[in-house]
Amino acid sequence: MKEYVLKPLATQNILAGNRCVVKEDFVEKEQVSELNEGTVINLIDLQNKFIAKAFVTHQQKALGWVFSLDESWEFNESLIENYIEDAIEVRRDFFENPSTTAFRLFNGEGDGLGGMTIDWYDGYVQINWYSKALWRYREWIQYVLRELLPEIKGIYQTRRYTLDDTQQPIEHVYGNEAPHPLIIKENDIKYAIHLGEEWMTGLFLDQREVRQYVTAQVTGGSVLNLFSYTGGFSVAAAVGKATETISVDVAKRSLEKTKEQFELNGFDFPSVQHSIQVMDVFDYLNYAKRHHKTFDWIICDPPSFARTQSGIFSVEKDYPRLAQQIFELTAVGGFCILSTNHSRYEKERFMQDIQQVLNQTAGTFYFIQSFDLPADFPTTADSQSQYLKVLVYYREK
Ligand code: SAH
Repeated sequence: MKEYVLKPLATQNILAGNRCVVKEDFVEKEQVSELNEGTVINLIDLQNKFIAKAFVTHQQKALGWVFSLDESWEFNESLIENYIEDAIEVRRDFFENPSTTAFRLFNGEGDGLGGMTIDWYDGYVQINWYSKALWRYREWIQYVLRELLPEIKGIYQTRRYTLDDTQQPIEHVYGNEAPHPLIIKENDIKYAIHLGEEWMTGLFLDQREVRQYVTAQVTGGSVLNLFSYTGGFSVAAAVGKATETISVDVAKRSLEKTKEQFELNGFDFPSVQHSIQVMDVFDYLNYAKRHHKTFDWIICDPPSFARTQSGIFSVEKDYPRLAQQIFELTAVGGFCILSTNHSRYEKERFMQDIQQVLNQTAGTFYFIQSFDLPADFPTTADSQSQYLKVLVYYREK
């Protein structure tokens, strides 16, 4: 077994629960850069003491993933099977809950193996590959899933790393094709899922608890949903008896996709109550300000980087400016939900940035609660693993 020496901080981090290793973690970083995809290596400290085993996979910034702190473990079929079996076992409650039929079945490093996630959509499975090293085990992984979950109706897979022109990024690989749309339930609200078309399937499963909060807390009043995609938050608010929802998304397809989600739940769309503005969020915010509009709830969940009329919006740089505009449009007695899934924008910095904005904003706002990833998205100590941060603010006056 090849051994590679970690720097002291990297050793400490792995012992504290980090699972991702990068070139900079190693004393001789040139040596590790050359390692082939899938190579299994031992990580040792400066005193030559064994720390962990990792498999090499050149995945964005990662050099590889720790898969065990036990020297006797091998990286092989049965290791993968054990991790998948454990992941299914800890999700028994999800399988048994008839009100929610879609959830994450395997969350990469949080379930022991970085480089792969698996989602469950009412009997249909989507496997997302980020690691070429794990892709080599695809037949085995599909087989294990079918053995452990004989109720699986069909399997799709997506490859999220760079492919050559002949390779298909999204494929149906087993069983039946899912209906279009495939209707799943989340806390008894219906959502339309489209498998096999795009990586984004129609609903971000990691926001389940935030949608549930919206349904429970929005008991009337107006809701503005920025970067609304298929309108998941808007539908959750409508079910919660919002008197008005306005979704805003620049993508043309968002109209038809949002209509689909609303109609599934028995709402007319678009209607006086529930509508969408297919336009740039920043243009909409300017328009709303000019017309002195305010909202009882504003929900904002932007992509980490977005193209806008006036250039590129980046969460790290531009969220404060966006938050400022949102606070101005929040009615007294109203709430804002500010979300980001940018892995390098950490919660502490996000909260500090927003607090700074609030210090300069007219009106009195209180931070009332936050959300992170739900139980079916287990995380590790790696900061990028805990990517979802959702902050809720209340405007008192
Ligand atoms: N909040 C959504 C997910 C957002 S995905 C949900 O919970 O389902 C990001 C969305 O932002 C995409 O639908 C994309 O079309 C939209 N988007 C990106 N840039 C935008 C811009 N400048 N103005 C409006 N929408 C934008």
